Amino acid sequence: MRRPIIAGNWKMYLTLSGALDLVKDLKERLKGIADRDIVVIPPFTYLHSCHKVLEGSNINIGAQDMHWEKEGAFTGEVSPFMLTDCGCKFCVIGHSERRAYFHETDEMVNKKIKSALIYGIIPICCIGETLEQREADQTFDVIEGQVRGGFAGLTSGQMGRVIIAYEPVWAIGTGRTATPEQANEVHAFIRGNLAGLFDTELANNVRIQYGGSVKPENCDDLMSQPDIDGALVGGASLKADSFARIVGFK
Ligand code: PEP
Repeated sequence: MRRPIIAGNWKMYLTLSGALDLVKDLKERLKGIADRDIVVIPPFTYLHSCHKVLEGSNINIGAQDMHWEKEGAFTGEVSPFMLTDCGCKFCVIGHSERRAYFHETDEMVNKKIKSALIYGIIPICCIGETLEQREADQTFDVIEGQVRGGFAGLTSGQMGRVIIAYEPVWAIGTGRTATPEQANEVHAFIRGNLAGLFDTELANNVRIQYGGSVKPENCDDLMSQPDIDGALVGGASLKADSFARIVGFK
């Protein structure tokens, strides 16, 4: 039985005081929920303050990206060691916005995943096809390439600690959601790939979130699919009522 995991990616939004109001509100609304993992993913500059508010609660903190090195002359970058020092347990890796605007490759994603695991951070690795690729019938080839490249060289034990977020790029921030069946089809395909690269037990145990315009109105249907184990939520995670509703999906 895979434990659901709902994560809210705040991207480059909110002020410090808005971030603190949001985590205080969520802490109150979500207390008592014990059957699923809950993660908020603020911008780097709010991580430590949000962690202080959430310490000891059932809500975890994650980061939106990281470098793979522990430290060094990498101006502007943040290391996994720094993230753990701020209370981070999770880190999004290879978000489509990073791949598209900051030229992140599967090779970089792979380095980041390996490094996150060394530092005890659970990577949430995003994969997904663009609209152009879907329309050209390339979805499964793209997903297979991202799985092979992103997870190359991992042992089954390491892969068992990775969370995958299937996020069709055409559904992110567009209000356009994959149908539950469309999403589940790709999730099942990812499991098939993992079974080939690792083993069936691992493939059955890896948690795969869906992301792309998840909202209170569609979360129950998406989460009812057999291969969908939670959600990576962008826009709807910036408001306590909508994120709390998604966390509490039925
Ligand atoms: C995301 O940022 O990962 C995301 C899925 O965004 P949204 O929910 O706004 O589509």
